[in-house]
Amino acid sequence: MPFHYFGKVSFVPYTKVAEFADYLKNGKLMGTRCKNCREISFPPRADCLSCLSDEFEWFECSGKGRLHTYTIIFAAPTGFDDIAPYSLGVLDLDDGGRLLGWINIPEEEITIGMRLQAVPKIFEEVPEIKLYYSLEKANTT
Ligand SMILES: [Zn+2]
Repeated sequence: MPFHYFGKVSFVPYTKVAEFADYLKNGKLMGTRCKNCREISFPPRADCLSCLSDEFEWFECSGKGRLHTYTIIFAAPTGFDDIAPYSLGVLDLDDGGRLLGWINIPEEEITIGMRLQAVPKIFEEVPEIKLYYSLEKANTT
């Protein structure tokens, strides 16, 4: 048991931002803002990358952004083979940060740099709560 020298408590910073999942369940996309230097982080981060402060507050992201890149999956992993082909994209959020989501528009309409809206969704059919991001056409109004 050489690892006992490192202590028994495995404390990870994720526990400080556990509320993130609760917000997502309610359809809210939340990031963190450092109370010390105002640095913004998405996904949320308890400890600031800029000034190392652990004082943060939540803010709600608009979920709007531009498509950074995307790929179309033809050879899907087990469990996803019945829905292939499908498109995955990386969205550069207007509020800062990036996320990976499922592109929910026809393949021929996808272009890099297009405006999209990230919407947190839940797979209802599985017993545990499974969250994913759906990338949809941004409301142009
Ligand atoms: Zn900071």
